[in-house]
Parts: sequence; structure tokens; C-alpha cells
Amino acid sequence: MRVLVFDGNLNVGQLPPPRAEAGEALVKVALCAISRRDLDLVQGRRPVQVRPTILGHQFVGEVVDGGDAAAASWIGRRVIAYAHRACGGCPACRGGRRWECAVHMERDLGNGLIDGSLAELVSVPVSSLREVPDSIDDDEAVFAHPLATAITAAQRVVGEAPQRVLVIGDGNMGLLLTLVLHAAGHTVSVFGRHPSRRELLWRSGISFTGVQDAEAPEARSDGVLNRESYGSVFECSGRASGFELALRAVRPRGRLILLSDQAAEAGFDMRPVVDNEIQVHGINGGSLDAALEYLTRKRIDILPLVAARMNLSDGAAAFQQAARRGTLKILLHIGREFR
Ligand SMILES: [Zn+2]
Repeated sequence: MRVLVFDGNLNVGQLPPPRAEAGEALVKVALCAISRRDLDLVQGRRPVQVRPTILGHQFVGEVVDGGDAAAASWIGRRVIAYAHRACGGCPACRGGRRWECAVHMERDLGNGLIDGSLAELVSVPVSSLREVPDSIDDDEAVFAHPLATAITAAQRVVGEAPQRVLVIGDGNMGLLLTLVLHAAGHTVSVFGRHPSRRELLWRSGISFTGVQDAEAPEARSDGVLNRESYGSVFECSGRASGFELALRAVRPRGRLILLSDQAAEAGFDMRPVVDNEIQVHGINGGSLDAALEYLTRKRIDILPLVAARMNLSDGAAAFQQAARRGTLKILLHIGREFR
């Protein structure tokens, strides 16, 4: 089967197809999105467990084989899957929050220990599979992972809608979260680096302030960046400057919600967290069931977040493009060539 292999570099190659073990289903991958985590692994911001490895976990495909009778009952169904294996027995799993399972966080699809989905075939534990309803297109289904995270994050807003909330960062996660918060009835202000986002957000009636505008009198006077003016602030930029802005903008005893794992960038002053008794929440995933249900209801138009569609054979170029600042989602067609 054809795969995109990462071994320091990305190369398209041929590998023997995987076999579904007991409890696993073999999925023929149709489409796979390049995720933030894939980029972090390629760019060395996260350790790759085993090399060479096959990246990718934001896929949609069809089950073509099963390692046992229960798995075989999935044959012919269109699916997505959780990246992490889950133990099923810990408090998080028993509470229905399998993405928080502490036991198997290390064994995640596409990080070497389990092969990922930038391949024609991938074997996935049946317990990780979720069936995609017919009303959801492949293009939408590959957004289920970041959408699940955005839904969890949006539930952390303090108070009932409508609330004034601030999203810092206008990459994939910042924009997706913004659409979800807006659909929930909140009044969202976005602070980001890409003036090109203005039109995309304006169509939905959402205000955008660019870094370039931040010092302009209008930005000050319309209150977007006024001190301590938001009960809930979302940091999605992954920059120390974004974290600092968040701490300035959030009200005393307000909530700062972090969706970026790079917010650990050093060098910012944490004192406002203590002085103003800010609650800090980190969000690292969400329910794929909730995301699929959300997509079924067509609450938001997710497709404007697709930057490009490419083929697996262009995998290395696709990663280069995805790594460019400001690029939204890149989708790789795997089964059938995209022209
Ligand atoms: Zn567990």
C-alpha cells in the first residue's frame, strides 16, 4: 500500500498492508487532514516515539476488514476514529471522557507506536471507531477532532449566552472555536495576525482586530482590547504575547482557556493570574460523538477553513504548505486522486 513515511523527511513509499488484529478494524482511508500535532512531530516540537513512522489521525474512511467477528460487523461503514487508545476502566473513561484517559495517552495513532492514517490502509481499535452519518461529507468529517476540542472549550464560557468573549489567535483552532462560540450566541471578538481573516469572519458578523490594528485608536476606542473587559478569554495563538494579552483582557476572577500546547513558551509574567484570581483551564480534546452530532445539525459552515486539497503523492509539499504561517486546513486525498 502507498504511505507517507516520516523518517526525518517525508517520503511517499510502499509498505505491506497492515492486518487487523482481534479487536481491530482495517480502514481504507479516503481523506486525511494534516493536524497541528502532525506538524509538531515533523518540526520537532513533539518527540516521535518510533522512526520511521506514519503520521495522521484526522481521517475518514471505510472499514474493509475486521480482525474478529465483532470488528467484521463494521465492514462497509464510513468511520472516523479517536487518536488515543483508551483503557475503558479509569475514571475518565467511565465518565465518558475517553480523550482524557490517562492510561494510554502515550499510545496514539500516528505517533509511531500505532501507525497513522496517511496511508491507504490503517488498522484501528474498534473501540476507537465512530460511524459518520450520511449527512456529513468527508470534507466535514475530517474536522471532527478539532471541532470536538472547540466544543469542549466553548462549554467553558462563564455565564449563559450571550457573553462577550475574546479569542486570541486566528489559525485553524482559533477560527473554528470562533465559529462555534458565535453559533452558541456569544459576541466574539477575534485578535489575530492575518488581516485576510477579516472577510471570512465579517461574513458571519464577527469582529476581527489584527495585530497591525492593535495600536490604532479605533481598536482602543471600540473596546476590543480594553483591559479586563472579558469574562472568558481563549488563547489559541501559542505565543507568549497572546498569553500576556489574554491576562490583560480577562476580568478579575474571569476565565482563561488555553487551547494551544505551545502556551508554555517562556518569558511571560504570571502574576496577574494570582493578583486577579484568574481561573486557567487547559483543553486537550473532546467527544467525537458530540462533534459528529454538531456536524449533523449544520450549525456552522466549516468548509471555508479548507485551504487546499492535495494528493498523498504530494504529501511532502502539503506539509510544507501547512507549515506556512496563516495556512488553514490542508486535506490529503488518499483513496482516489484529487484533480
Ligand atoms: Zn481510561
